[in-house]
This record gives sequence, C-alpha cells and structure tokens, in this order.
Amino acid sequence: KNKKEAKQNAAKQALIGLKLQDPNESSTSGQPNGQLNDSVSSISDKMTKMNMSSKETNFIGIINHYCQKTNRHHDFMLVRKTGLSHCPIFFYKVVIDGKEYPEGEGKTAKEAKQNAAHLAYETLQEQSDWNSQVSFRSAASEDGTPSSFSRPQSTWFTSEFDSIERLGRGGFGRVYKARRKLEERFFAVKIVRFKEKARREVGALAEFQHPNIVRYYTAWTEPSEYKSDSSSESDSTSQSSSDSSAQYLYIQMELCDKKTLKVWIDEKNTQRRDHKRREEGLVIMKQIVNGVVYIHSKRLLHRDLKPANIMFGREGEVKIGDFGLVTTEDNESDENLIERTKRTGTKSYMAPEQKSHSTYDRKVDIFALGLIYFEVLCNISTHQERAKIWDDIRGQKLPTGFSLKFPQEHKLITSMLCAMPEDRPEASKVKTELELISLCFSNLLISRTP
Ligand code: ATP
Ligand code: MG
Repeated sequence: KNKKEAKQNAAKQALIGLKLQDPNESSTSGQPNGQLNDSVSSISDKMTKMNMSSKETNFIGIINHYCQKTNRHHDFMLVRKTGLSHCPIFFYKVVIDGKEYPEGEGKTAKEAKQNAAHLAYETLQEQSDWNSQVSFRSAASEDGTPSSFSRPQSTWFTSEFDSIERLGRGGFGRVYKARRKLEERFFAVKIVRFKEKARREVGALAEFQHPNIVRYYTAWTEPSEYKSDSSSESDSTSQSSSDSSAQYLYIQMELCDKKTLKVWIDEKNTQRRDHKRREEGLVIMKQIVNGVVYIHSKRLLHRDLKPANIMFGREGEVKIGDFGLVTTEDNESDENLIERTKRTGTKSYMAPEQKSHSTYDRKVDIFALGLIYFEVLCNISTHQERAKIWDDIRGQKLPTGFSLKFPQEHKLITSMLCAMPEDRPEASKVKTELELISLCFSNLLISRTP
C-alpha cells in the first residue's frame, strides 16, 4: 500500500529467488555461491527477526480461509526435501484449483508451508476478488450473520489500540480496556482461544441488540495472544504466542464499569444497614430479567448467569456479559459445560439438572437468577457464612427471617429455585412478578423496614 511496503516485499522475493537459484546450500563458505548463500541466509535471518509481524502472521490460516470463502480447492504440495537428515530443508508450494504458486522453503514442513502460503498470499492479493473475500469486513455480513476473520497483521490489537490495561481474567479469557486510536474511544477487548465456544460467543453477541446486554462491535483473529506485562497493569507492547498452532479471538465490546454485580453485592454486604438495597436490587433484577427475556426470545440460553458476569454501563444500567457458554435450546454438545464445571469454584449458580443431565432448557437461567436475586437482597457478611448456607438456598431453604423481611421476593425466589425445571417460571413471568413487587413499592403497600 506504500512504497516502503512494496520495496520490502520486492526485496523479500529477491532474497527468496536468490536462495532458490542455488540449491547447493551446503557449499563451503569460501566459494562464491557459498558466500552468496551465507549472506542471503544471514540477511533473511535478520530480516525475520526484525520483521516479526510477517513471521507471526498465520498465512496458512489466511489461505485456508480464502479458499473456504471462495469455494476453491487447495493443497500444500511437497516439492522436494534437501539437506542432511539431521537438518533437512523442505520446499512446499500451494496449489489452488490446479494453479501452482511459488515455492516456500523451511527447516520444518510447517515453516515451508507457512512460507509457501505467504508467497501465495502475496500473489493472490493482486487478484480482483481478494479484497472482497479476505480483507477486513464489518462484523456482520449482509444477512446479519456474524463473522470473524483473519487480519494479515498479527499486531492489529497493539497497532490499532493504545492505553491497554487489564480489566479481568476469567476461566477462559483475559479482558482488557483499550483505546482505539481511530475513534479515540475506550473499548473492552476480550481475548480467548479461538474454539467453537468462542465462535458461539461472538455469534450470539453480534445477534443481540438490547440495552441490558453488553454491546458488541467486532471480532478478529490473531495467531498470538496479547499479554500485558504482569509487573505493570498499564500499556505494554509485549505480544506472546504460547502455542504456535493456536488462533486467538479478539472480541471488541463496549466498555462497562469495573464494578460488576459481584462487587456491588460485596460492597452492600460490608454495610450494616442499607435502606436502599431492596429497591436498588429490584431495579437491577428487573434489568437483568429484561435481558434474559430477550435472550430467551432468541431461543438461546446464557447458561452462566452469575454476579461476576453482570456488569454496569455508563449510566449504571445493567449489562449482561460473558456469553462464553451461550447455546441454542437445541444444542446437544456439552463439552464446554463439563470444562466449565471443573473450573468453577465452590459457589455454583448452575441448576441441578445442568450439573447432572446433558439435556436441559432455558430454565437453567431462571435457577441462576433466583440465586442472584437472593444474593442481591440478603446481607451475608462472610464467605464462610455464604458457603454454609449455599446448599440450603439451592434447595429452596432460605434463612429464617428472610420470608418475613421479604415476603413477595421470598415467594418468587423459591419458585425460581424449584428442583424441577418445568416448575420454575418463565423469564417473562418473573418480569411480571418483579413489576408487581415494584408497584407495591411505589404504592407503599409494603413496609420499608430496614
Ligand atoms: P468465561 O466465563 O467465558 O471464562 P471470562 O469469565 O474469562 O469468560 P468475562 O466474564 O467475559 O470472561 O470477563 C471477565 C471479567 O472481565 C468480568 O468479570 C469483568 O470484570 C471484566 N469484563 C468483561 N467484559 C467487560 C466489559 N465489556 N467491560 C468491562 N469489563 C469487562
Ligand atoms: Mg466470566
């Protein structure tokens, strides 16, 4: 796109050309050809070290993606293998629909394939349909289906964003606050290993448009995972790749407040008497339930509702996040859930059937909501106390006094915690019940005893 980039690519082609012209790689360095090879090797080594972004870019992935998008058949063909047995040199070329692309060389088959893919990529870029198939696209395609894509730069995140600061680390991903230089605005960027689970997460997020669900902007993949310097939370340009075959999905979302509902509950629990807790809790619950009604209307289940996954927007409005376990009502596969069950701590928000059965429905979210509502209202001062009563709560045995203090909420919560999913109310019914409780508040029909 500019002279420097074109020169850089031309120089690289020339170096590769020079190397390919002389297959006597092992000739002694005193001879002219050897000298040429030595200098070419050392220059290309230096170049590779300098040009890390080119080395880290997953060109194999880009070619695979391109061929998949354009319905082209492709193969990586081993052209020859030279060198001594302990240090072989592989030559591969990409063949797409019968057309052969330049040979790539490497010390391993993977390296040679990657170089061949790089050369094919450069040739293909000149083709008319390259941009429309592979270049940056908006997060949702014309039919509204979300898409993720490989950007031919591994450091997209660090080149486009600055002021990167870690916000949180969950079971599967890291979340950063980062400023996009173009818009000069802050976003949250979640980075996860690119697996089916991650694809589902962006797929659902891109479909949602609701004031109580965290807003999704876009997603892209990179071959390495950004990791901030652990000694400082502030901006760091370190980019590390823990597994060379892995792809990482970067999910750009709206930035929410650092304070999650978990923090809100913990803060409330440190205050002895808070007259506003009940009313504020109701406002929060109504918004969470609004979001859940919307999710269920799309025939999806969140499956991981818990205070740490409920955030707040700029105006204090509820934002449901972490759709890492989202699934359709018809989805059978539960590998992710099993993985999650192993990772979760002692305090679980999972419905009983979610732990033991492979089939369940949207009512798992209602069970979690019941537990959340209880925690939002009840002052539990220590973690030990919570651990002690948690199993009882899950079994609909709420502490003595709770039903006296919160009679309507008690009734609603116990219905939400029914062992049988079919006995639990639908999200829309919970919404109506909360509105009724709200009405009672505004009509002062229930006492506001501390
Ligand atoms: P998973 O549950 O799939 O393993 P996770 O728990 O690793 O995912 P999230 O729950 O999405 O990831 O995020 C972890 C934490 O990062 C959250 O608890 C929250 O503190 C913070 N966070 C996530 N998304 C945002 C956001 N959009 N704005 C601000 N903070 C966020
Ligand atoms: Mg989470």
